[in-house]
Order: sequence, then C-alpha cells, then structure tokens
Amino acid sequence: MPEGDTVWRTARHLDEALTGRLLTRTDFRVPAYATLDLAGRLVIGTVSRGKHLLTRIGEEHTLHTHLKMEGSWHLYHPGTRWRRPPHEARVVLHTAEWLAVGFALGVTEVVHRDEEGDVVGHLGPDLLGPDWDEDEALRRLAGEPSRPVGVALLDQRNLAGVGNMYMAELCFLAGVHPDTPVAEVPDLRRLVRRARQVLEANKQRVQQATTGDLRRGRQLWVYARGRERCRRCGTPISYDENAGRPRYWCPRCQPGPGSRPVAAAGAEPPEGLDLS
Ligand SMILES: [Zn+2]
Repeated sequence: MPEGDTVWRTARHLDEALTGRLLTRTDFRVPAYATLDLAGRLVIGTVSRGKHLLTRIGEEHTLHTHLKMEGSWHLYHPGTRWRRPPHEARVVLHTAEWLAVGFALGVTEVVHRDEEGDVVGHLGPDLLGPDWDEDEALRRLAGEPSRPVGVALLDQRNLAGVGNMYMAELCFLAGVHPDTPVAEVPDLRRLVRRARQVLEANKQRVQQATTGDLRRGRQLWVYARGRERCRRCGTPISYDENAGRPRYWCPRCQPGPGSRPVAAAGAEPPEGLDLS
C-alpha cells in the first residue's frame, strides 16, 4: 500500500508532466465515466491530499484517484510500451507529449470542482500538506483514547498519509506495540511529529528509509522483516495480520497487550508490498 510520501511524489510527477497542457484525448475505463470526454480541456494541476490525488481539468472537472493497494500512475511518451497490462488501466489522459495512465486505481471518479470537499473533506490534517496542523491531529487521535494506536494511525480521518509501513515503523520508534491504546502511548506528540519527519524526509526519493540508512535491506526497522533480527536488540521480529493488514513489531522493544510468541504458528511472513 503506497504511503503518503509516495502519493505526494506521484502528484508532483503528474503535475510537472501535465499542468498547462491541453488534453488531446481522454479514456475513462470505468463504467460510470465511459462516455466522458475531456479532450480539448487544459490540465490545471495535480495535488495530493493524504493518499488521494486530485487532478484538476478545465474549469469544472476534478479527477479524483486513489492508489489503494495495487494502483499506480505511469507517464509514457506516446508510442512507448506500457509497463503494466493495458487491461489494468482505469484512466488514460493524452497530451501531445505524455500519456498519463492510472493502473488498478482503487478510486477513479470525476467530480465537479466544487465537490472536492466531498471526497477529501473527511481527512485529518495532511502530513505533507500546506494545512498540516499537529495540534489538530493530536486532538483527533486523543478523541478515541482506548483505540489501538496502530489502527488510529492508519485512520486517515485522524491524520492523512500513514500506511502500513510507516505505522509499523512509527510504533517501533515510539517503543509501543500497535495494539497499545492511544492514551498509553508515552509521548504521542513526539510520535506525530516523527510521522511528519519521516514522510518529509522520504517524499523526494524512491527509497524510503526510517533508519537513516538508505542501503538496500537496511532502510526499515521492522516492516516486512518478519523473523529477521531486530536491529536494536537482536530479537526476531514478530508479525501477524490484522484485518488483512500485515503488522510487524519487535516483541522486546515494543512490549504491549498484543505481544505474542515470536513467529507464531510457523506462518510465512507476508511479502513486502510494492511501494514503487
Ligand atoms: Zn528489539
């Protein structure tokens, strides 16, 4: 699942390639918009809001997309071979110079510019947005004190931009198990501040790191490292799946209500998700 920094970078790439360009053709491959044709309109810009993308087209239209689990946007020069199967394309925007292709998007919809608030208005403060508000994020998190902190961090209504990977890493850095109630996290402000720091630090680069080490295989503390040794204490990293989301933690560095024996039941660790 792409994290907020990946979505931020995707928005920037789309913005750089398309803004100010005339759409020569549009191809919406979702039933609701199959007949919509925005050819002849100017692309005004693309911004990210948390993990949502808003591409503003012409006076009235906003293309709202979300990468969810498997989605990605690619940019191609006309005539270039696509790197994902054409049947996965949900939308294709053509300009004279570029084709922007949205593959396997979790959300593809076109709304009126005035309705953007309806699709992203529920989001909490955006960790990478101009409206970032640490106090408001803390207020929202603290509003449900008994909620497990791992779940609360993933809830985009609290703060927008954290996915599975950063959730795992932030819990490790805070020394708490993801099931720890929000109210029992020793320094919630520090955790939230760190969330912004790691997303800010990683937004410009493809290789995401929370350890400060960009070398391959050394970038992360616990995420996708099931059974490998904790970089801090050497204990094998634990993992499980909660509502379909893989979770990783060090049972020694992150004691908590959900601590359980290392590598329980001999299950294979879930594969690391594609964050490209
Ligand atoms: Zn450890």
